[in-house]
Amino acid sequence: MISLGCAKALVDSEILLGGLKQNEVEITESPEEAETVVVNTCGFLDIAREESVETILQAAELKKSGDIKQLVVMGCLSERYPDELTKEIPETDRIFGSNNHRDIVTFITGKEFAKDDPLFFRSLMTPNHYAYLKIAEGCDNGCSFCSIPIMRGLQKSRPISAIVDEAQRLAENGVKELLIIAQDSTSYGWDLPEKKYLSDLIYALDKSLPESVKWLRIHYAHPAHLSQRIIDAMAATNRVCNYLDMPIQHASDKILTSMRRGLGKEKMRERIQRLRDANPGIALRTTLIVGYPGETEADFNELYDFVKEIRFDRLGVFTYSEEDDTLAAQLNDDVPPEVKDERKAVILDLQAEISAENNQALIGQTLDVLVDEVGESVSVGRTEFDSPEVDQIVHINSVVEKGEFCKVKIEDANEFELIGSLVSGPDTLCTGSTLRFDEW
Ligand code: SF4
Repeated sequence: MISLGCAKALVDSEILLGGLKQNEVEITESPEEAETVVVNTCGFLDIAREESVETILQAAELKKSGDIKQLVVMGCLSERYPDELTKEIPETDRIFGSNNHRDIVTFITGKEFAKDDPLFFRSLMTPNHYAYLKIAEGCDNGCSFCSIPIMRGLQKSRPISAIVDEAQRLAENGVKELLIIAQDSTSYGWDLPEKKYLSDLIYALDKSLPESVKWLRIHYAHPAHLSQRIIDAMAATNRVCNYLDMPIQHASDKILTSMRRGLGKEKMRERIQRLRDANPGIALRTTLIVGYPGETEADFNELYDFVKEIRFDRLGVFTYSEEDDTLAAQLNDDVPPEVKDERKAVILDLQAEISAENNQALIGQTLDVLVDEVGESVSVGRTEFDSPEVDQIVHINSVVEKGEFCKVKIEDANEFELIGSLVSGPDTLCTGSTLRFDEW
């Protein structure tokens, strides 16, 4: 199973892996040892599509040389371009979408499933102590640049009870941090037969999860949908990390209108202020797109000034890439690639300065850290202000058991890392002999 793309695709891979394991399919570590390779593809942005095609081609080589018997392709790219993939890579035995888990297990094992059979329980590909929790699929927003609704359809929220059940099972299996994901988590529940809100889900999870789940982290908030009830729920529940991942995409009203983002700069500023007032010290992560069609120097400067003013704690930048069949594809992609790259670099330089200043201010403080990785004499973890894979890390100058919380005094810092020493916890310090690096 080779899983590419975002955390939402990772959850799909985990459901499929769970289904395969529950039906006695042996999972191997390397493609060369396998009979069947499944590639879960990503279809969003050129670079991800290229990586997906490259990976399928590598697996196709294994099929040609007889190392594997079957090649299965699933995920966003195959939802979007099934005919092209079948034609261009004839070694592919079957193409499936993102959510055909049962059909894929049937294809591989021959076993049929009834419609009302329970869903497969996931086999985690993240370390055992954290897991993504997908609360909805699809998106109703129709941002002009985005092809995700074309691939994943309109929003379908999962019922609160199903999400709580899954979260409880994950907790029973040792998960201590749950990362809430959706295309737009702030519009969660609007499509349910009885309308619900993300705040309802936050309270339900907080009420029903054991104490061992210390962190609930919210990803992919949409600024237009960040309501006061969600802000209040975040403030009222200790378990919700003082962190929010809220892609704003841009800050020029002209560009935001063309992007169909549903709110302008002033409203965005006001939402962020309300969020910070209710949750002092909250770490804000955002992502931006530079080089969108029609983005002038003045538009870019507006974005630059907004980033400088707001001082996001974590920030990622994409250069605009035209996506087939989107509204923005009808616009003239008129910002030259070198200008897009330069604008991206300028924003990242600014963010590096902001991040370095913020991190310097943490020197001397003692922070709670969850340990993600352990080496021979050091450990690497994260604070509640950082999400795995995308945000910054804390280096700890001693060996601590993976998946444990501890207190670390910060002694040094650079733009994207903190360095510190263990102050206390966890209850058991690790000898280093029982660590596993390659857990599924
Ligand atoms: S909210 Fe996100 S997933 Fe939905 S259309 Fe906009 S960018 Fe795409």
